[in-house]
Amino acid sequence: MPPTFVPPRTRYAMRRATCVDCGDTFPRRRAALGYTTCLSCGDAEAVAARATWAVVPLPKQGYTRITRKEELHHLNQKPR
Ligand SMILES: [Zn+2]
Repeated sequence: MPPTFVPPRTRYAMRRATCVDCGDTFPRRRAALGYTTCLSCGDAEAVAARATWAVVPLPKQGYTRITRKEELHHLNQKPR
């Protein structure tokens, strides 16, 4: 087996964290903050997460976080 040659660029890449989504590398400092995805994937993730809930003002209850679409449909009734 020939000795493994590691090109400088790869060595640099190894000092960076790898995105779990696209396999791209991103700065270690971002990984230190707890991120496992690169900037663009992290942004898409945040947008997707935000689409899963809605905050609606309910009578007598105040603002409530709704995560199920059916729940939201049940709330959209004409007042009796
Ligand atoms: Zn990514």
